[in-house]
Amino acid sequence: MIIKPKVRGFICTNAHPEGCAANIQEQIEYIKAQPKADKGPVNVLVIGASTGYGLASRITAAFGYGARTLGLFFEKPPTEKRTASAGYYNSVAFENAASEAGLYARSINGDAFSHEAKQQAIAAIKEDLGKVDLVVYSLASPRRTDPDTGETYSSVLKPIGQSYTAKNLNTDTLKIADMTIEPASDEEIANTVKVMGGEDWELWMSALSEAGVLEQGCKTVAYTYIGDKLTWPIYGKATIGKAKEDLDRAAKAINETLSSVGGEANVAVLKALVTQSSSAIPIMPLYISILYKVMKEEGTHEGCIEQLDRLFREGLYTETPRLDEVQRFRMDNLELLPEIQDKVEAIWPNVTEENLYELTDYKGYNAEFLKLFGFGHASIDYDADASPVVDAKF
Ligand code: NAD
Repeated sequence: MIIKPKVRGFICTNAHPEGCAANIQEQIEYIKAQPKADKGPVNVLVIGASTGYGLASRITAAFGYGARTLGLFFEKPPTEKRTASAGYYNSVAFENAASEAGLYARSINGDAFSHEAKQQAIAAIKEDLGKVDLVVYSLASPRRTDPDTGETYSSVLKPIGQSYTAKNLNTDTLKIADMTIEPASDEEIANTVKVMGGEDWELWMSALSEAGVLEQGCKTVAYTYIGDKLTWPIYGKATIGKAKEDLDRAAKAINETLSSVGGEANVAVLKALVTQSSSAIPIMPLYISILYKVMKEEGTHEGCIEQLDRLFREGLYTETPRLDEVQRFRMDNLELLPEIQDKVEAIWPNVTEENLYELTDYKGYNAEFLKLFGFGHASIDYDADASPVVDAKF
């Protein structure tokens, strides 16, 4: 079939297998070109390993440090008539590249929130790796089914306490208009914490610990975003921010669990960038488009793989990690520089539909969005027939 992007609102409903493989190759090449580090992981479990930050974590561990990786994700397989989700193609391409490079890689396609997925992962670790010394928790999901009660909770992206009105870019129509979001109810706040908070990270670490598959000195990290004034009302100080605060509580609890193996749990604060999850958050596409413009001009722009390279080097595997007062690794340091935020804030009120391409890097934003699904690679002929079906070992 001919595979061209089918964008509906803030998602793209199809993906290009070869384009996704090209994305993987680009990230692998970036990581391989970085200076070799002395210390790094050996056996790694990545939960949420197929796209965005989790995928970059897996690539960094495998191709930067030669680590053996077990990846878990929730992705749609292809049929003859319909393409797979991008994360599915990414994972096939990752496994192929790992196998060519002689690197162990195994993947599980399932619901990370379930007891079953945890048991499957533990069995795979026991079978192939013995123990793991790094667990990356990089899930982004709109809902979670509690594995004990069977109840399904949905998260919301809403302000807390009062409604919030701000300029919003509709990436479908390229219209810019004020958008008002009503505040979340107490139940919606609690549900968002249930989905995106630290409970499942804790369940994972307890299950792995009880199964005896955590190596002495095992590290675990979960990802968060904090941002600054412009995004606080919809992120940092909103429902998702509440859920992310819960990660700090979970990190403390997990540190207790890990004390028996001398391990440590940290939250890592990463920068805002285009992923399938961030494009769904109101305000974010416009914020990221302006941020990209400013950071590219400053020469400090980073994508997922650059952030992960730094997280391993400046956070996880150094004697002098870049930590804040609550023991979070801070990789958002460049985004939050006052001079960067001041410039973003100065541009924000002046953006209109007419000057969108001039004042912001919406062009870059949109190209990166399409790239998430394997589109826009100069090396790929998108008019050529492509089979949506690929061979997967998971
Ligand atoms: P993403 O949408 O690209 O990736 C989400 C991953 O979670 C995918 O691998 C997906 O398959 C997996 N997943 C979702 N539901 C699952 C389930 N039920 N079972 C198993 N796997 C499941 O998202 P992302 O932007 O890379 O986000 C990853 C983490 O990084 C999140 O915690 C997010 O809050 C955080 N973060 C994102 C940004 C950003 O700007 N994108 C910034 C800082 C921190």
